[in-house]
Amino acid sequence: MKTDSLPVHHPVVSAVGRPRSDIRSAALTQLRDTVEFLQLDEGTHKVLAEPRRSLMVSVPLLRDDGSLEVYEGFRVQHNAARGPAKGGIRFHPEVDLGEVTALAMWMSWKCAVVGVPYGGAKGGVRIDPSTLSAAERERLTRRFTSEIRAFIGPEIDIPAPDVGTDEQTMAWMMDTYSQVAGYSVPGVVTGKPISIGGTSGRAGATSRGVAIATLEALDSHGINPNGRTVAVEGFGKVGALAALYLQEAGMKVVAVTDVGGGRYCAHGLDIELLISEMASDAVSVRDSEQGDELRRAELLSLDVDVLVPAAMEGSINDSNVDMVSARVIVEGANGPVTPAADRVLEDCGTLVIPDILANAGGVVVSYLEWVQNVQSYSWSDLDVQLKLSDVMQTAYKSVFALSQSRSITMRRAAHAIGVGRVAEAMQCRGNFP
Ligand code: GLU
Repeated sequence: MKTDSLPVHHPVVSAVGRPRSDIRSAALTQLRDTVEFLQLDEGTHKVLAEPRRSLMVSVPLLRDDGSLEVYEGFRVQHNAARGPAKGGIRFHPEVDLGEVTALAMWMSWKCAVVGVPYGGAKGGVRIDPSTLSAAERERLTRRFTSEIRAFIGPEIDIPAPDVGTDEQTMAWMMDTYSQVAGYSVPGVVTGKPISIGGTSGRAGATSRGVAIATLEALDSHGINPNGRTVAVEGFGKVGALAALYLQEAGMKVVAVTDVGGGRYCAHGLDIELLISEMASDAVSVRDSEQGDELRRAELLSLDVDVLVPAAMEGSINDSNVDMVSARVIVEGANGPVTPAADRVLEDCGTLVIPDILANAGGVVVSYLEWVQNVQSYSWSDLDVQLKLSDVMQTAYKSVFALSQSRSITMRRAAHAIGVGRVAEAMQCRGNFP
């Protein structure tokens, strides 16, 4: 399919007056620092600072009570120099164009730093999915997919789950796209159910990547993970399984929180039990009877070896960074540490493993899923796990080596590698026309 078949009436946002949010300025600050570090030319900087394409759509939804509501939807493709654009779809009440644009930019660096041949994208609908029935979620997803349909495809832009979406959302997206095509197109999305071309290992992939990055971080500093303490902020798709895999690796997960509150146990929480409690009737980890109740704000001040922020962006910021006493922070979420907080952590000598490296396991396994789809072939769970470990360990080692040789933080090193690879691809290809 040709991307220039985009109907002209789609409201592609002009370069003038683009909304800017805090997270967008955080992404632009990081880019400016990296451009200076790499001594890239100003023209390349200008191209990298702006998304290649941004699409805003209206998503009319017929509610179960017969009323019609209209929600804002977005899909932003930041850069496609290294391959098709790639990134998740978020259903969340705070989604806006600035946030999606920043997240799309981070996807470009993330794919590049782990060496998967994709550019970056992100999308979303500004809605609280917990207010929707399953039938409403399906109608919303299908209408949103139909609105962005001309913009996506296995060789153009490949969505995946993100906050508020899951494999069922991807199944509806894949089906909507395929119904119009007239045949099944599994490679249009990743993070699908296995029965329609999903891969084994995708569901826990981001969390596995977080665990691998944590173990590499400890190993590269000569620290034995056995018995080391961990606190996890966010007990959703990423945080819960990251806690489990870290516990399986011998670490002691002493605290977890979610939006409703948290639990603390100095001897370590039983994460498997906590996950099963959440699957049955608990609404929040706070409802568990393990250990003691912990307030969300208290988690940051715990004296732990490793803190994994796996909730939303900006959770460690200038108002609370002084409370942080963890030695190592591994970013499970995208953008959980603001640039101002990052500077404070750097001054304190806290080791921060940045999001674009630490949480890249999801997009790595998305890539493995897509490769299987386009080849109409499937690999075993072991194949996928070995490939994921290999990609994550190689990426970690290259970022660590640069950070050591240039005496820079892991974040600066990861951005230098990610931005550098995208800039190199752009320079090789040249500017069209
Ligand atoms: N939403 C995930 C992320 O932020 C995965 C994206 C993907 O697999 O395309 O990395």
